[in-house]
Amino acid sequence: MAELVLDRPTEADPEGTVIELVGARKTYRTGSIEFEALRGVDLAIGAGEYVAIMGPSGSGKSTLMNIVGCLDVLTAGEYRLAGEDVGELDEVELADVRNRRLGFVFQQFHLLPSLTAWRNVELPLVYGRVPAAERKERAVAALERVGLGEKLDNRPGELSGGQQQRVAVARALVGEPALILADEPTGNLDSRSTEDVLALFDELHAHGRTIVLITHELEVAEHARRIVTVRDGLLQSDEVNPR
Ligand code: ADP
Ligand code: MG
Repeated sequence: MAELVLDRPTEADPEGTVIELVGARKTYRTGSIEFEALRGVDLAIGAGEYVAIMGPSGSGKSTLMNIVGCLDVLTAGEYRLAGEDVGELDEVELADVRNRRLGFVFQQFHLLPSLTAWRNVELPLVYGRVPAAERKERAVAALERVGLGEKLDNRPGELSGGQQQRVAVARALVGEPALILADEPTGNLDSRSTEDVLALFDELHAHGRTIVLITHELEVAEHARRIVTVRDGLLQSDEVNPR
């Protein structure tokens, strides 16, 4: 691993800043109990970067991902996504941002069990009101891209964990999102499938996608070019990974 760099990361940032968090705070309230899961996070991620966010369980990684993915809003501080102040957006606008700009991959795959692979993959395009013929064409192309051209009509239950996660990656890609967010995407996979999924992320990065990968495993994080560590709701380090 690299030593700590104290200035901005050195990764090229040709198109601007995709993610910008300034003094980001998130407090959860459960009855009368408050818990501050993010306690003032400053983080900027540029277009085309591949960043891993690491930290022990409970450190605030998923909270950060939910904020960055517009699934939740900050209690205090600012979040700009591609220059846009997310705090100013209403529910409908947030849903639109998620649908058009972001692709999500989760540990639990979150596929719909009754739908075939290609039907799962076309879903973001259904929400995006893309015509049916184009949806199928793009879903098939996305599945071919992740090496599942032979499994188009299989349901999730007929696929291995690694294959299911590749379907989920295809679904994340099908809308051509600017930013791919993955929260412990290899957490439920064996080492072989982990390598398959990480190889896909490597390829996406090589094609210019911005990727934020959350993991608590160093081996997984080392696929990224920059490794940010979180602890107790604060950034602990921000390093360029020389590989
Ligand atoms: P990580 O993903 O790093 O394991 P999380 O972001 O899920 O961490 O959680 C950070 C902290 O916030 C944990 O202590 C967790 O218990 C707490 N937390 C997360 N979500 C909620 C919630 N909806 N309500 C209350 N506390 C929460
Ligand atoms: Mg988590």
